[in-house]
Amino acid sequence: MKKILITGATGHLGAAVVEELLLTVPAASISILVREVAKADSFAHKGVNVVPGDYNDYSSLVTAFNDVEKLYFVSGNDIEHRAAQHENVVRAAVEARVGHVVYTSFQRKTEDGSSPIAFIASAHLLTDKLLRESGLNYTLLKHALYTDVLPMFIGEQVFETGTIFLPAGEGRAAYASRSDMAKAAAVILTTTGHENKTYDIAGKQSYSFDDIAGILSELSGKTVKYVSPSAAVFQEQLTTAGVAPEAIQGASTFCQAIAEGEFDFPDGTLADLKGDEPETVKIFLKKAYNL
Ligand code: NAP
Repeated sequence: MKKILITGATGHLGAAVVEELLLTVPAASISILVREVAKADSFAHKGVNVVPGDYNDYSSLVTAFNDVEKLYFVSGNDIEHRAAQHENVVRAAVEARVGHVVYTSFQRKTEDGSSPIAFIASAHLLTDKLLRESGLNYTLLKHALYTDVLPMFIGEQVFETGTIFLPAGEGRAAYASRSDMAKAAAVILTTTGHENKTYDIAGKQSYSFDDIAGILSELSGKTVKYVSPSAAVFQEQLTTAGVAPEAIQGASTFCQAIAEGEFDFPDGTLADLKGDEPETVKIFLKKAYNL
């Protein structure tokens, strides 16, 4: 049987895509590529085929991709080695003659390496290019920032401090939830007409942190304000508060990218694919903060 294979299915997005697919296609037609088979027990019990494989291990990928009609390729999370890993995936898909690769790429404004998050964007740019030139059918999903990452940026104590303290200026981003992205992915994987297309997968509206402070104030009945320090002041204050340097660096560079408009691309494609309105930032935050 020709199969749909999902990578990253032990992670948040891949797992959500598998759950969406299970609503409409038989489990036997779904395979998942996993590094640790034991981590996929719950899907195995549902009848999903669990295939061992690692982006670092080219031959494991060629074997795993045998007879795969549609591959949902979740970008890896090992930033340092991601470009080489993704090259392995694309080459293996070519060798195994995969029918169609759907890749989770990234929204961006700049492609010339000048973005504050160029070190993250570079593997996406390379993978998009490799897929376009591969001769494979592809769909490039330019994912927005996940709404799911907002609580990580905003912090758990936001109602105690009454402040969102982030160096993102007036920058806006068209957040979309992983759960909506998974719904759209399931539609793409089970319908035709998506070959050799690039879709922005984003919310229909973009938000600044000032907007988000307003939403949190409205939802909670408490005043939340947004303060945007310079990157240097942000780093100094979080260092004093004992936050790990990598976490400060990560938040700082993403906020700088938001400030520069790297993610300000609202789009209706996600809504069209889903067939209804994407989850708004307000609805997401209401659930995330139990408001
Ligand atoms: P996640 O929960 O960290 O899941 C990552 C998945 O990739 C896991 O299943 C992991 O497997 C798998 N993986 C990592 N390295 C691999 C390798 N060498 N070979 C095979 N599989 C490998 O991430 P997520 O939240 O689902 O997000 C999916 C991807 O989107 C991330 O990997 C990242 O590239 C990107 N991302 C985007 C945003 C955004 O805001 N747009 C935010 C965060 C991440 P294991 O379970 O074995 O580790």
